[in-house]
Amino acid sequence: MYIIQIASECAPVIKAGGLGDVVYGLSRELEIRGHCVELILPKYDCMRYDHIWGIHEAYRDLYVPWYDAYIHCTVYCGRVHGRLCFFIEPHSRDNFFNRGCYYGCNDDNMRFAFFSKAALEFLLRSNKRPDVIHCHDWQTGLVPVLLYEIYQYHGMPHQRVCYTIHNFKHQGIAGNEQLLATGLKRESYYFNYARLRDNFNPFAINMMKGGIVYANAVTTVSPNHAVEARFTEVGSGLGHTLHLYQDKFHGILNGIDYDFWNPEVDRYIPHPYTPKNFSEGKAQNKQALRERLLLQTVDKPIIAYIGRLDGQKGVHLVHHAIYYALNNSAQFVLLGSATETSINQHFRHEKSFLNDNPDCHLELGFNEELSHLIYAGADIIVVPSNYEPCGLTQMIALKYGTVPVVRGVGGLVNTVFDRDYNDDVPPEQRNGYVFYQTDYPALESAMERALKLWYNSPEEFKQLALQGMEYDYSWNDPGEQYIELYENIRHK
Ligand code: ADP
Repeated sequence: MYIIQIASECAPVIKAGGLGDVVYGLSRELEIRGHCVELILPKYDCMRYDHIWGIHEAYRDLYVPWYDAYIHCTVYCGRVHGRLCFFIEPHSRDNFFNRGCYYGCNDDNMRFAFFSKAALEFLLRSNKRPDVIHCHDWQTGLVPVLLYEIYQYHGMPHQRVCYTIHNFKHQGIAGNEQLLATGLKRESYYFNYARLRDNFNPFAINMMKGGIVYANAVTTVSPNHAVEARFTEVGSGLGHTLHLYQDKFHGILNGIDYDFWNPEVDRYIPHPYTPKNFSEGKAQNKQALRERLLLQTVDKPIIAYIGRLDGQKGVHLVHHAIYYALNNSAQFVLLGSATETSINQHFRHEKSFLNDNPDCHLELGFNEELSHLIYAGADIIVVPSNYEPCGLTQMIALKYGTVPVVRGVGGLVNTVFDRDYNDDVPPEQRNGYVFYQTDYPALESAMERALKLWYNSPEEFKQLALQGMEYDYSWNDPGEQYIELYENIRHK
């Protein structure tokens, strides 16, 4: 099959979170299975050009229809760790992708509406006719809309779309402008509940809803989250739309790329290890982590948090976990970035307050290399999310023998099985600790159980970590499921 991925991120060249990992990892898996995969991405000024091999002009004069005129674009091509990627660079005063950031601009809706349009225009003009277009999140929600309302009549009648939702929180709530700009000009037709009109705001369109309505298949990133999105507030108002389209809506668990996330071959960690030399390897990396972050060397476990710092991630519990750890004979390492000013300020304040504490380090910002060392050097990782569509950090931690303590939501339920209380999974397959409520006692009880095991039964703690390492959360299974899905929609 010939598959084109259209996305706003692809790790490691463009990564703000899990989306980037998934786009890269899935593409790689599909290629390994013999399919032809190409990626279309925006050409951001701030992406990691050092991860692109052989970047060159692939299509010089792409004129993308925009309002009643055109925006002139150049498309570049290069390999990102083996994957063939096309980067779209518009030349206009809007300066869509030269902002020094991936997201967070006032005109994000316009930027990504343009990207969706430009990606399809590129396919059309360069005569690329994939069997399946796989697009991701609200940024590319207009792709299936534009394909079925415009491009199928211009020479792309056979293309089918799989649309994956990684996070229902951000849906691309926009207005008439985005429709006009992209050539979707029949306002009353699109401002209809059955099409793009937002389920709650009659004066807005919802790009993610458009993706759900028009795509041939819709997925989200774990089976449990698929149920949550339909039946709880986690669907952020799209529950009814998902209900209407339930037959084409599926939950497929994300995988992780074990070529990149694997303590045996990880080039960012100083002491590679396998389950066979786990104790030794963990201890050496733990020491390296302490040296790197200037933590004292003591006989204490290191608890870590890695992730964005925002409401989704349960920041109040992250904050509490730091002090609970410090008050209960553990060290704490945090690597996180916040886009919201108030949260950012809060953690900056905490950092200055805890700066001299030899048992704690808060690293505020995004640091891929350091994240690997933390996964390898920590004993326990906390993931106290309010909601978590899939969650990659717990899966990565498991591979590194770092025991996850998670809140039982979304994909965390599908991947972490409580050591003491999960009757559905035999004891030898349990791999972490799970709590359910969003209050402090719930988090504390799970952390307490983990810490007690570390202190009182180190052999059993090690056994738990090793059981986690045995899990296969690679792209193998999800890759197969996506191919099956592509095959299904392709023949419709
Ligand atoms: P989300 O997509 O909601 O941000 P996921 O758990 O799905 O969360 O994916 C997070 C990914 O981003 C993981 O690969 C994690 O290691 C990485 N990550 C998150 N925050 C940081 C950070 N501050 N520095 C480095 N890597 C980070």
